[in-house]
Amino acid sequence: MKITIVYDNSAVSQGLIADWGFSSLIETEDAPPILFDTGADGATLIHNMQQLGIAPDSIGVIVISHRHGDHTGGLSYILEANEHAVIYVPSSIGMRLPGRKVISVSQPVKISETVFSIGELNYTEQSLAVKTSKGILVLTGCSHPGVGAILDAASKYGTVYGIIGGFHGFREFSRLEGLSLVCPCHCTQYTSEIQGLFPDQYVACGAGLEIEL
Ligand SMILES: [Zn+2]
Ligand SMILES: [Zn+2]
Repeated sequence: MKITIVYDNSAVSQGLIADWGFSSLIETEDAPPILFDTGADGATLIHNMQQLGIAPDSIGVIVISHRHGDHTGGLSYILEANEHAVIYVPSSIGMRLPGRKVISVSQPVKISETVFSIGELNYTEQSLAVKTSKGILVLTGCSHPGVGAILDAASKYGTVYGIIGGFHGFREFSRLEGLSLVCPCHCTQYTSEIQGLFPDQYVACGAGLEIEL
């Protein structure tokens, strides 16, 4: 199982563009690649995908975390190059894409054998729970419903091993105790505090980061 950060406010690999927004790719053995969020700018997303060797038409599923433009901006660019991907959107987004298979998510839903949407929390945002050999890995866009609520919902799938994504203004840092991997990305406001409190669990996020579990 591999997670690649495709789009982020920072970049950790040469040749990748850093820009405000978030997108990541989940590769598992049981299903075609899943793109979680699409960044803000389609040209930047496609550039970073090319640099990472990710072909847009290889993507089987696109999951949009929530309606904000820094997560949805690249969607139309991907769809231009990919006619078959199934698209999971939170019900609050009200997205209509004629001719496309769009699944509106409110309750938790199984996306593949190992990847689950924890459902739309607060009628706002969905996050993913990915089953790995080490436990549940949580992927989150902006965490508008709150990191604590997201971890609670994800823990229904098993013991949470780690969390990757935007934490926004989250500062209930004790909620991260017990995790083995903490990778605050994108809109996280208290990254340095999190790094200071969890130096062994902390992983610096940025476009180009690859995490294999
Ligand atoms: Zn965002
Ligand atoms: Zn947002």
